[in-house]
Amino acid sequence: MTMRRGAASVGQDSVRLPGTATIAEAIHDGARRLRDLADNPRLEARLLLAHALGLSRADLIRDPHRSVETGTFNDLLTRRLLHQPLAHILGRREFWSLEFQVSPATLIPRPDSETLIEAALVHFAHRPPPRRILDLGSGTGCLLLALLHEFPAAFGIGIDIAPDAAGLARRNAIRIGLADRAAFLAGDWTKPIAGRFDLVISNPPYIPAADIDDLMPEVALHEPRRALDGGADGYDAYRTILGDLPGRLLPGGTAILELGAGQAKEVAALARQAGFAASLHLDLAGIQRAVVLSPIGD
Ligand code: GLN
Repeated sequence: MTMRRGAASVGQDSVRLPGTATIAEAIHDGARRLRDLADNPRLEARLLLAHALGLSRADLIRDPHRSVETGTFNDLLTRRLLHQPLAHILGRREFWSLEFQVSPATLIPRPDSETLIEAALVHFAHRPPPRRILDLGSGTGCLLLALLHEFPAAFGIGIDIAPDAAGLARRNAIRIGLADRAAFLAGDWTKPIAGRFDLVISNPPYIPAADIDDLMPEVALHEPRRALDGGADGYDAYRTILGDLPGRLLPGGTAILELGAGQAKEVAALARQAGFAASLHLDLAGIQRAVVLSPIGD
């Protein structure tokens, strides 16, 4: 027999107070409501319910017949049905097996961007590891902090145009335990700093401005335009970064940039004009997602 809070007070276990359900029922109902919107409705329903109740996913699995209040869960479902990104509702997103706090101040970390970390590991596998790393447009700090996690002798600087993003990244550095090797600044690309680096990394805005409104509403309505908008053709930020790079790399230094789908050829051509050789790395979907740039003649 299923135990339901409230049922005992009316003496019949088939009657339930409004706003309660068993965990299994709540997940089932949530998944049904999210069916047309989410790639994995059951997983999202589970995550939202766990968040609403302050329980772990393991707690939910252990005790599916437990009766719970569904008010907060329903509020979160409503927000998700209005296309708020799951990561904004949960306030966090995993990247490179590290947990990042997220906010509407900046882009939510994406699995595609892990390709840049893989590219860095491949590049440095047979070279001395980088000591100085610069992340341009650092957002949550996910790229820089994942790199610092992998390269324990490195120190990194992240720069973001949004002060709220720089603050968020700093909090992420503290939470992950990397604050003694990371500094985050608010400013315009490389302008706030002098100095040269072994590795420059960036996931710049690269969506052509006119295409942004056609992105999924989670992105177009809820992620900051300046983290997405690459100007009329999508390549504005690459031009800026490529112009700055020669003055920012140490001898033997390299830059790794994220690419939008279909942008590899044009970015490689821009890189060649700026004096860099380009090699490309594919993401899990087979898209050329990361470009590794080395000064020609290095
Ligand atoms: N990958 C993001 C998207 O397509 C865009 C990120 C970016 O412009 N750097 O939603």
